[in-house]
Parts: sequence; C-alpha cells; structure tokens
Amino acid sequence: MHETVATVVENRELGSGVWLLRLRSSAVCSDHEPGRFVMLGTGEEVAGGPPSPLLRRPFSIQRVQGDVFEVLYRVVGVGTRCMSELRPTLRVPVLGPLGNAFTLPQPGERAVLLGGGVGIPPMVALADRLSALGHGEWRAYLGVSSAADSGCFVGFEERYGAELSDGRALRATMDGSVGFAGNVIEAWLRDRASGIPQGGERVYACGPMPMLRAVARTCAELDVPAEVSVETMMGCGVGICMGCVIENRTYADGTAAQRACMSPYDRWLMACTKGPVFGAQSVVLDDGGLLH
Ligand SMILES: Cc1cc2nc3c(=O)[nH]c(=O)nc-3n(C[C@H](O)[C@H](O)[C@H](O)COP(=O)(O)OP(=O)(O)OC[C@H]3O[C@@H](n4cnc5c(N)ncnc54)[C@H](O)[C@@H]3O)c2cc1C
Repeated sequence: MHETVATVVENRELGSGVWLLRLRSSAVCSDHEPGRFVMLGTGEEVAGGPPSPLLRRPFSIQRVQGDVFEVLYRVVGVGTRCMSELRPTLRVPVLGPLGNAFTLPQPGERAVLLGGGVGIPPMVALADRLSALGHGEWRAYLGVSSAADSGCFVGFEERYGAELSDGRALRATMDGSVGFAGNVIEAWLRDRASGIPQGGERVYACGPMPMLRAVARTCAELDVPAEVSVETMMGCGVGICMGCVIENRTYADGTAAQRACMSPYDRWLMACTKGPVFGAQSVVLDDGGLLH
C-alpha cells in the first residue's frame, strides 16, 4: 500500500455520467493485482479547483499500463462530481492499491467474468491478467441497462474488440439496445447450455448487490465456485472507520452456540481489509447502507 500523489493524464466523459480517469503513479502500478482498489482524493490538492470532500473515495483499478492506471467511474454525488473536474497535469492524493485480489483459476478451469455497470472495471483487470498469463479459457459477460451506459464497456472494447465479435466477451443490455437482451447471468447460462469445459468453471462477479445476490444463488445451485467483489459504503479504506462491513455468513447461519463464540470482528468483515473480494457463499449480500 502506498500513500502517494498521482498525476492526471486523462479524464474524459464516455457518456451518461460515466467517466474514464487515467492517472500516473509508478508506486500504485507496481503493486496492482486484479480486484484491488484505490482511495482517491477528489481534488483537495488542486489549487483553485472546486471545493472537495474530506474523505477519499474508493475505486477499482481497471487497467494498468506502464506507470499509468485507470479507473472508470460514474458521477453520483459530490466526490465524483469533483473528480469530473480534474484536468491533465493536476495532482491527486491516492492511497493504494488496497484490499485483496481475485483467486486466479486453475489451469483448464474456465473463468467466467460477470460485470455489471461500474462493476465492470475489476473484470477488465482480471481479463488483462489472465491474458498476460496465457490463460486463454475465459469468457466475459458485461451488462448495463441500455445503450446510454455503453461507456462502461470501453475497457473491454479497447483491448478485446475481437473477442467482443467472436462471443468470448459479450455485451448485454436489459432493454436489448446493445448485444444480448437480458442480464449477464442469463447470457452466461445460455452459453453454458452448449457445454462446460472438463476443467470446470469459476465465476468472478462485480456489480450491484441484487446482481451479486443472484450470482451467489445461481452458483450455489450449480455448485460452481464464485467470488464477488463488493462495493459497500466505505469511508477510510484501511480498517479504521468500519463503514464498509459485510456480515459473515457463518454468523448469520450459525446456531446460538456458534454465534456466542464469535466476536463482532468475526461477524462483521471489513470490505476494505478482508475484501473487497469474498467467496460468494461466505458473506451476506444485502444492500446495507448503499446509497447508489
Ligand atoms: C472497493 C470499491 C470499489 C469501487 N469501485 C468503483 C468503480 O470502479 N467505479 C465506480 O463508479 N464506483 C466504484 N465504487 C463506488 C464509489 O466509491 C462511489 O460511487 C463513490 O464513492 C461515490 O462518491 P460521491 O462522493 O460521488 O457520492 P456521495 O453519495 O456523495 O458519497 C458520500 C459517501 O458515501 C460513500 N459512498 C457512496 N456510495 C458508495 C458506494 N456505492 N460504494 C462505496 N462508498 C460509497 C462515499 O465514499 C462517501 O464517503 C467502488 C466502491 C468500493 C467500496
């Protein structure tokens, strides 16, 4: 983990309030693993910039290229609005990379990447890593509501345009305006009906909580191992504020006697230090205090 200052290389709107921010920091790039995130200052060191909030904001690292990393973000509140004002050469305080990373698939195991909206970035990071390792057995299913949100696809489109046309990376929209009409789970299950590799599958997912709940339920029914990256409300990113906790399923499903043996630290897992990646069956995927 590094406490550092990154320089803005690019910050452009991709449409409908979705932005791509590219920042230069060799310290952050040197430590990146797919699934990890950064806490970004939204402009407090910017002389003459907009007044910005005190707390930094958490964002997944979508891609690392040399000493430049990128995040894809949606403008939803005051922090992300300040981020959208960032201009090249400005300097941004960054803490990270933080959190854990996805478990990589076994050789021969098919990695199924399910990304919803601004939950797509960690899937880009994972696809990049699998490609770099020569693990060719992956498929990505990327979902948004409608064509208006198709900026979320940019990370995949830039590097995997060919796979998008051969069906290895598939775009889905709920209204059918781009690609498959329906959600990413439906798209995956449709493809799955034509065969599963001998090495089996492992699912990776990031997106809104209802999507993650559906992924966990489906994977439990199919007995497919799955990991989810959760985006709970997060204040500090380093295990101090405890705003980002998620309930341990061992506690939720436990007997009174089992619960009595567990401390609050066993019951409530901090997404910043124990996650954001969890086994899909190991935590309670409720909406908690999420605003967006
Ligand atoms: C590990 C992790 C990775 C994330 N990756 C991405 C990403 O790649 N792209 C993206 O667009 N968004 C991502 N988010 C969500 C993003 O952090 C929030 O949308 C953002 O913090 C909202 O800030 P705001 O000031 O604009 O909104 P406000 O509502 O003004 O924020 C108020 C406070 O609530 C917190 N907050 C609000 N919504 C969320 C949320 N959904 N998750 C966590 N904290 C929240 C903020 O950090 C802030 O402290 C991620 C969240 C987490 C925890």
